Amino acid sequence: MRRYDVVMPSSLVPPPPATWSWLGGRPALDLVNTLRDRGRAPRETLRTPSDLGAWLAAAGLAAGDEPPPSAVLDEARDLRAAIDAVVTALVAGAPVPPAAVTQIDDWLVHAGSRPLLTLSAHGLPALGERPPADSPRRALGTIALDAATLLGTPEGRARLRICASETCGTRFFDRSPAGARRWCSMRTCGNEAKARRHRERARPPRPPAVR
Ligand SMILES: [Zn+2]
Repeated sequence: MRRYDVVMPSSLVPPPPATWSWLGGRPALDLVNTLRDRGRAPRETLRTPSDLGAWLAAAGLAAGDEPPPSAVLDEARDLRAAIDAVVTALVAGAPVPPAAVTQIDDWLVHAGSRPLLTLSAHGLPALGERPPADSPRRALGTIALDAATLLGTPEGRARLRICASETCGTRFFDRSPAGARRWCSMRTCGNEAKARRHRERARPPRPPAVR
């Protein structure tokens, strides 16, 4: 179960492969983080349409009953690159690439729910949600909407972070009360940094140079 509000909870969610990280705290950042270890040697975890289908299902964004067409995998990777281009520019205080903004905006037409009114078993009208005609693209639209909310508002931008570990590169949304979180996770990168600082402090001072 993700920590963000999901649009379409599914009972068909397969267990996510251990390679996926859910530390982003937002669907848009978790999608970006499907390219793992960006700081070291980037590792692709969305290799096939089935990977994307399983990821969308694990994220609670699509039913995941069948893999999306392979064209959607390319589109998902393109959207991921566009979101990250804006994220990295904002974090670095660099100019935001206009093409990336347009690309995210193009996906917003796929976002949003379509209401459905049916008659329930009790004979009462029931308001529900119309099943999407194009589930994977709708899910990508939902991710784009999350990206737009995150990147397009001062509150969202103020909480955008990249893990301070040189090798990690995980993008995350800082929900800490003080807004001073530096690591994607205290259990991994935060602990490593703490251990490194400890080793550095414990190292004996160097003897004076012999002349
Ligand atoms: Zn990290």
